[in-house]
Amino acid sequence: HAKSDGRGIYRHFDLDLQKKIDHRLDMERALREALAEDQFELHYQPIVSAQKPQVVGFEALIRWDHPTRGRMSPAEFIPVAEEVGLIADIGAWVLRRACADAAAWPSHISVSVNVSPLQLLSSAFPNLVGDALAKGRLSPNRLELEVTESIFLTDGDGALKILKQLQMQGIRIALDDFGTGYSSLGYLNKAIFNKLKIDRSFVREAGIKKEAVLIVQAIVALASSFNMTITAEGVETADELKLMRDLGCHQIQGYIYSKPMPFQKTFELFEKKDTRSAIAS
Ligand code: C2E
Ligand code: MG
Ligand code: MG
Ligand code: MG
Repeated sequence: HAKSDGRGIYRHFDLDLQKKIDHRLDMERALREALAEDQFELHYQPIVSAQKPQVVGFEALIRWDHPTRGRMSPAEFIPVAEEVGLIADIGAWVLRRACADAAAWPSHISVSVNVSPLQLLSSAFPNLVGDALAKGRLSPNRLELEVTESIFLTDGDGALKILKQLQMQGIRIALDDFGTGYSSLGYLNKAIFNKLKIDRSFVREAGIKKEAVLIVQAIVALASSFNMTITAEGVETADELKLMRDLGCHQIQGYIYSKPMPFQKTFELFEKKDTRSAIAS
C-alpha cells in the first residue's frame, strides 16, 4: 500500500516538474519574442513629496501586453527573465527607455529604475548605465537605481563596489522593499543608500497594528540618522497617508495619488500647479 502511494507521489512530482519546465521554456520563448518585437512598455508612477503634493519623480515599471496572453505581471515574468538569463537584455532596454523618457520631463523631475541583482553584478552594467544616460542626454543626478536587499545574497561586496562607483557619478541608490525578505539593519550602516523605500506591507500593517507603527518609527529614525530619504510605498488610504507623514516619511508613492501611468500621461501632471488635483482629476 505504502509502495503504491510512494509511486503516486513521484508520478505527481514528475508531472509537476515537467509542467514547470514546459512553462519556463514557454515563457522564455515568449520573453525573447517580446524583446525582439518590442512588446514591453514602461509605465510611470509618481513619487510625491510628503510636505506638499508635488511630484518629485517617477518610478519606471515595466509592462508587458502579450498579443494573446494579455497583460503579464512583472512580479511573474521578471523572476523568469532572471532564471533564463534574459534580465540583462530586458534591464538594458528599461534603462535606455527610462533615461530617454525622463529627459523630456522638467529638469527637477527624476526617474527611478528597478535593477535586478544579476543585472547589477554583470560586468557590462556600469557602462550600460553611462550609455543610457549619454544617449538620453540625462544628467546622472536625475537617475535613481532601486535595488533590493537580495543583492547582498550572492556577492554583497561586489554589489557594494558597483553601487559606490555609480554613486560617485551622481546617480542615487535606493533600497527598495525595505522590511521584506532578508532585512538586516547591518546593510544600512554601510551608509551607501541615498534612499530607503518602506515596503507597502509595512504601510498596510501600520494602518492596523500599533506594533507595526513602532517598527516604521524605528526604521525612519535609523534611516534619518544615516541621512537617507525615506519613501513610503503603496500608500492607498488617507489614513495611511497621514500616518506616514506623521511618522516623518519624506516621500509618498501609492494609489492614493496615482497608479502607474503611460509616459504620455505624465505630462498632464506638470501642467497643473497642484499635483493632488492634477492627479485626482
Ligand atoms: P516595486 O519595485 O516594489 O514596485 C512597486 C510595485 O507596487 C509596482 O507593482 C506598483 O504598481 C505597485 N504599487 C504602487 N503603489 C501601490 C499601491 O498603492 N497599492 C498596491 N497594491 N500596489 C502598488 P508592479 O508594477 O506590478 O511591479 C512589481 C515588481 O516588479 C516591482 O516592485 C519590481 O520589483 C518588479 N519590476 C517592475 N518593473 C521592473 C523593471 O523594469 N525591472 C526590474 N528588474 N524589476 C521590475
Ligand atoms: Mg521599485
Ligand atoms: Mg518596492
Ligand atoms: Mg519589489
